[in-house]
Amino acid sequence: MARERLYLFDTTLRDGAQTNGVDFTLSDKRAIAKMLDELGLDYVEGGYPGANPTDTQLFAEEHKLNTTFTAFGMTRRPGRSTSNDPGLAALLEAKADAICFVAKSWDYHVKVALETTNEENLASIRDSVRAAKRKGREVLLDCEHFFDGYKANPQYALACAKEAYDQGARWVVLCDTNGGTLPHEVEKIVGEVVKAIPGTHVGIHAHNDTEQAVANSLAAVRAGARQIQGTLNGLGERCGNANLCSLIPTLRLKQEFADRFEIGVTGEQMGGLMKVSRTLDDMLNRAPNRHAPYVGESAFVTKTGIHASAVLKDPQTYEHVAPELVGNHRKVLVSDQAGRSNVVAELERAGIPFEKNDPKLTRLVEEMKEREAAGYAYESADASFELLARRVLGRVPEYFRVEQFDVNVEQRYNALGERVTVAMAVVKVDVAGERLISAAEGNGPVNALDVALRKDLGKYQKYIEGLKLIDYRVRILNGGTEAVTRVLIESEDENGDSWTTVGVSPNIIDASFQALMDSVVYKLVKSGAPA
Ligand SMILES: [Zn+2]
Repeated sequence: MARERLYLFDTTLRDGAQTNGVDFTLSDKRAIAKMLDELGLDYVEGGYPGANPTDTQLFAEEHKLNTTFTAFGMTRRPGRSTSNDPGLAALLEAKADAICFVAKSWDYHVKVALETTNEENLASIRDSVRAAKRKGREVLLDCEHFFDGYKANPQYALACAKEAYDQGARWVVLCDTNGGTLPHEVEKIVGEVVKAIPGTHVGIHAHNDTEQAVANSLAAVRAGARQIQGTLNGLGERCGNANLCSLIPTLRLKQEFADRFEIGVTGEQMGGLMKVSRTLDDMLNRAPNRHAPYVGESAFVTKTGIHASAVLKDPQTYEHVAPELVGNHRKVLVSDQAGRSNVVAELERAGIPFEKNDPKLTRLVEEMKEREAAGYAYESADASFELLARRVLGRVPEYFRVEQFDVNVEQRYNALGERVTVAMAVVKVDVAGERLISAAEGNGPVNALDVALRKDLGKYQKYIEGLKLIDYRVRILNGGTEAVTRVLIESEDENGDSWTTVGVSPNIIDASFQALMDSVVYKLVKSGAPA
């Protein structure tokens, strides 16, 4: 029997941006949209053009994505025409494949929040969907507070949804905006809705306030909905949105869903899920949730004891799915095998040649274990991993040697009598016997060090001309006086390629310096600079 298509809609960049402490930059948004696209999601909601400069800029650019790139915004304001509503105009002009409108569907909110009539709210939905259709956009309508609205006034909630569908909206999305609805209620209400609107046009948008956003999404699918909205790592306001990192594997690996439905994420794409999850955490400088289902560090860890020996005999004894399917790995704390297979997989991914029985491979695994225990995060720092692997397995030329560096931070009065803090760095480098000294000022010690280091590398200078740092993140790994600092630096070159390097030290300058050095050396290797 042919399987039905189930569509996944990601709102990490819109609803996920509401998360306390999350603030996406424009380059974060571009990078995440690309990552979501590569993961195979059907829709990526980029944000709310007109609401803030970042989103406005994002939607002023062309996007070369396979996904349906979606702009979010409100339906026309009550009492205005579609041609006289600047918010709606900005939305219609946005460079997006689809427009997702949000509208009230609870009569109580129409009256109290919107201060308008039920009829005017329906007219606003009607006019907005029509206007977007005229612009050639695919249209979605998020029905805000749908479940609470349905409980209070089912006829009206349904009328809002029906209005959008009748005007040609591709999807009508039922939102559990407060996140308080329970799975059996969702299943029942969605079951009622799909009698009026075909399930192939109905979506679910669940919040996690009773920790059942994933369960609610699955309940909606059981009842007939065919689009799920969610976010990576369950990011979102308050307790978050439905977590796509849990939903994707459940839909692909659990028989009830796998037998009946097909999603856009292939098995191969799902194999990168853990990496995607981790990359997002790193971009946001958030500690990954070790206990996250499927993608958490602990999701497939078995401690020594009777479980461990059983897992070694047959992993299925204690695992509900195979960890490799989501890019995670089994870890039995008595075995070395897991570490080795990860390293091998990473080498293959990076295209670094190696011999399976080379004793150097064992050394690399040992070295990585030691370094990861010390705080290095190679999963996030692809370029540092590659350099380490190349150093252990083969040879990375010593292009140059930093003999000494010196960083100074000074607070003083400037000529205008203002108190300023200035940083200055001096770096002494040996390039093939030639001694070069560079000094630079910066807005901080790391910036000064970076500018000085890259100011003059003699014959290698031309290879690093296009190199720039695009992100710098610091995390303190354990509290107290023995705190260790981990620095992750993301760099980009003239071709738009980017990579991440890591440094670890009790001293933040030293950690930064290691990461800077790795970035420069990586660029030289990548550019094929002669030794
Ligand atoms: Zn929401």
